[in-house]
Amino acid sequence: MKYRNANIGERGYIYGKWRTAPGTYTISFGNVYCYLMIGEHHALLFDTAYGEGNLREFVEEITDKPLYVVNSHGHFDHTGGNAWWDEVYAGPTAETIAKKAFSPEMQEKMNQMPYPDYKINTVRTGYVFDLGGREIEVLEIPAHNESSIALIDKTNRALYTGDEMEAGQVILFVRNQQIPNAEIFTAHMENMKKLKLRSGEFDVIYPAHNGPQLDLEYIDDYIALSESLLSGTAKIMPDIAGFGMAPGGFAGSAFLKEGQTLERAQYGGASFVYIKGE
Ligand SMILES: [Zn+2]
Repeated sequence: MKYRNANIGERGYIYGKWRTAPGTYTISFGNVYCYLMIGEHHALLFDTAYGEGNLREFVEEITDKPLYVVNSHGHFDHTGGNAWWDEVYAGPTAETIAKKAFSPEMQEKMNQMPYPDYKINTVRTGYVFDLGGREIEVLEIPAHNESSIALIDKTNRALYTGDEMEAGQVILFVRNQQIPNAEIFTAHMENMKKLKLRSGEFDVIYPAHNGPQLDLEYIDDYIALSESLLSGTAKIMPDIAGFGMAPGGFAGSAFLKEGQTLERAQYGGASFVYIKGE
């Protein structure tokens, strides 16, 4: 497949690219957001979307610095383009799902990328990527998925949350092992408290889907949302629409079993979508 330009694919101009802070780019593919952070001697790409077109060429047009490819978690809409590189970094357990595409067609596309058997290095809380004059720290925040990590860019005072804080919502029905909602809400709350403890180190939150940067009040909203769900006082919305979810969104999803339906609860700007009654 030939491309005139790295980001012009068969479906047109497939990637969006914006510089959102010094040496920081948001790269979008549909409603999936990847982030490129450039330091003095290295760059870091946080998530690879589905890897459509030639993601590697697209990134290398922005920077020629040696690249750390890092995943926010193992879901394929964040790992599908990993196979453009021979090595990536991700949180614990990401390797169990990162190479599992959402469809046979996507699997086939991944297999045609240069490194379908790419290596996955596990990183844990406290791990630091040194980009040169710019240190990026890992913090494990598993709830939406077991392998979720956040990145803290202390130099640019920014927090990257993957799917654990999409713009305004978190999808909580897509984990590998189905565990009770109360346990997931508790896990999410504990993670948000961990982020709150670090909130003196960042001024802005970059989510992986559905919208632009968020302010830090979302952390408090998410803590309050979990508390309201755990105490049975949550504001349950009439349907799951909102914040990028269509009313019938995810109906028939492979993540749902027969008979399961979804529910959305909200507090302030924060919203969870989860399996009703689980
Ligand atoms: Zn996800």
